[in-house]
Amino acid sequence: MSGFQNSCIITIDGPAGTGKSTVANALAARLGLKCLDTGALYRAIALLALEADCDLSDGDALVSLASDAKLHFDWDQDPPVILIGDRDVSDRIRDLDVSDSVSQVARQPELRTVLTSVQRQVAKAYPRLVTEGRDQGSVVFPDADFRFFLDADEKVRAQRRSIQLSASGEAIDEEAVLQNIRERDRIDRSRKAAPLVRPEGSILIDSTNLSIEEVVDRMACIVRGDGGEG
Ligand code: C5P
Repeated sequence: MSGFQNSCIITIDGPAGTGKSTVANALAARLGLKCLDTGALYRAIALLALEADCDLSDGDALVSLASDAKLHFDWDQDPPVILIGDRDVSDRIRDLDVSDSVSQVARQPELRTVLTSVQRQVAKAYPRLVTEGRDQGSVVFPDADFRFFLDADEKVRAQRRSIQLSASGEAIDEEAVLQNIRERDRIDRSRKAAPLVRPEGSILIDSTNLSIEEVVDRMACIVRGDGGEG
């Protein structure tokens, strides 16, 4: 990290349920960087669209929801929480109704343009940043210092997401979680605008048989230049 005192952008992309958020937060804490959860931005817009009964495929309507929303993160919290105005929606955006709608919303190129610009503004304000999502290393920060792609077996991902959701007190139907993950991945991979792809030249980490800590160790070693790739 010695060459990265002033600026270090690390991207982590990958399909749903690979533990990207947990890994990104832990890596950021370990390296003393901020952490941006870009899925939270798309989820917050999906929530607004559901509440406004807005057509999820109407890109212009979504952009106007986004510009009226006063969407922001509270960077004093760890991990940062996402707010619409002064309403903390960090928990609400994880509910299954939002998960079932978010990939429809995220397909809309008009909205992606707006949220890409929000993400780049965050990186200007916090140039020492771990940012995670679907297009961070491919589209938003193709020149990032380190670009990771985190993958895992689909069933393992569904199990992990179910455990995470039940820890927050929700009654979980694991089959519904698996279906949601499959459907989101299908839409995310096949959309025209910024599809989910492994960015060329990115570092692939398969976490199927790795704990969160092992993934973070591996990434931190690579960033610090201690090896660990493979
Ligand atoms: O990461 P998370 O599962 O919270 O993301 C929710 C959804 O938001 C994804 O399934 C995807 O449709 C969308 N997303 C995206 N681009 C990002 C981050 C998330 O399209 N950079």
